[in-house]
Amino acid sequence: MSTIRQLIKKAIPAVIPQRLFLDHGTPGLHSDGHQDTSPTSKQRPTVNVSFTFDDGPHPEYTPRLLEVLNHYHQRGTFFVIGEKAQQHPELIERILDEGHEIGNHTFSHSEPSETSNRHFLEEIKQTDQLLNQITGRTPDLVRPPKGKLTVRKMLGLWLQRRTVVLWDTDPRDYLMTDRTDITDWCQQFHPQEGNICLMHDNHPYAIEAVKQLSERQDIHIRSHIVSHWLAHKSYQSIINQQVVT
Ligand SMILES: [Zn+2]
Repeated sequence: MSTIRQLIKKAIPAVIPQRLFLDHGTPGLHSDGHQDTSPTSKQRPTVNVSFTFDDGPHPEYTPRLLEVLNHYHQRGTFFVIGEKAQQHPELIERILDEGHEIGNHTFSHSEPSETSNRHFLEEIKQTDQLLNQITGRTPDLVRPPKGKLTVRKMLGLWLQRRTVVLWDTDPRDYLMTDRTDITDWCQQFHPQEGNICLMHDNHPYAIEAVKQLSERQDIHIRSHIVSHWLAHKSYQSIINQQVVT
């Protein structure tokens, strides 16, 4: 990436409202009713973050991940691919039923550089319609494949008043080949308040990451759904009713 593009990418979160673009959460907005009940949390400083999981749902890994999240009282946001949601609608319902959140990650995860603006927005719409059929709701949150957007794709989403969600923490779990890779990452990770962590529930290591991060002895890492960080929750609920029926 060129220096100018890197500067633009860094500048966007500083000038765009969080309800339109989010790559980290702003501390101080903790009101989603997520009560921590882990017995050791009082003995450790708490850092509030968001675990996010892309590219599912997956018939094997997503249920195992949900079990681990629930065991540790953690909540996550799942950016699902439409064609996988179509194959496993029961997992979409389970994600929501268990207190997590769904975001739109396009229908086929087509390569951004080979996908026109129009086709990208059609995939978003197609996934919206599918998720609406399954859940009765349309997600506010959108994460583009690989986090890549053109200006026109971003404007297209903003015209729909969607929230574009990227991340500021990436363990690159999709490249890992051994359990020691994720163990090393979890041990060296120094979480900051509001971190949005990118993981993948079509790979096995997110499950281990949630387990190990939740068991850290030096710090209590508490994961919230991404919408936890959005100041305008009433706005979000209004948009739910407006986008695609
Ligand atoms: Zn993806």
